[in-house]
Amino acid sequence: MQVAVDGPASAGKSTVAKIIAKKLSYVYIDTGAMYRACTVIARNHKLDYGDEAGILQAIDEDGIELKSEHGEQKVYVAGKDVSKEIRTPEISANVSQVSALPKVREKMVSLQRQMAGKTDVIMDGRDIGTTVLPDAEVKIFLVASARSRAERRLLDFKERGIESNQTVDEIEQDIAARDYKDSHRKISPLKKADDAIEIDTTNMSIEQVVDAILAEIEKSQKNF
Ligand code: C5P
Repeated sequence: MQVAVDGPASAGKSTVAKIIAKKLSYVYIDTGAMYRACTVIARNHKLDYGDEAGILQAIDEDGIELKSEHGEQKVYVAGKDVSKEIRTPEISANVSQVSALPKVREKMVSLQRQMAGKTDVIMDGRDIGTTVLPDAEVKIFLVASARSRAERRLLDFKERGIESNQTVDEIEQDIAARDYKDSHRKISPLKKADDAIEIDTTNMSIEQVVDAILAEIEKSQKNF
């Protein structure tokens, strides 16, 4: 079973995907974390965020690993835990430029397909339903108002212990800028797949969103 969850920044994709993965014993794959790790690598190697060849080589040298530790997904770069670092405003501000590089996407998509080939998965990102897993049995597209997404991100920072002196207005602007870049890039832009089910989570609780997706998974299993 493959479940694809796409949508703009901070629409609640990872929160609900993690809960569903736990409930159904699926593997959760956070593809955004992989592009964020590529951005950390570019920064660590002092490369320009548009330097495709340099970044590709640095990714090969350092390596990116996703590990599950005590039920939490951790991201390692060159053997170092960068799970917190990948969420900083500096990385968020530059990840869209790195993720738009065609060869970086090619590399990440190939890794993502390898991971999905082995087991039941729920994968979240921007292009999972359109490109990475076009045959996924269930495709969900989560949306929410920009304001509520900025408020969620602020809460998320606090919960993860990430220091940020950004106001909710600044976060909202950052989110809008990132969504614009992600939706307008040439390769695999953020886009709802034709066969995806759109869920607006603005006025929904986490439990309600989880239940709505679980219902879709159940429906697809019955049809199988
Ligand atoms: O999901 P998250 O907000 O952590 O993703 C960070 C960034 O990674 C996105 O803004 C986008 O530029 C990129 N991304 C992507 N394709 C995916 C997942 C994330 O381009 N499948």
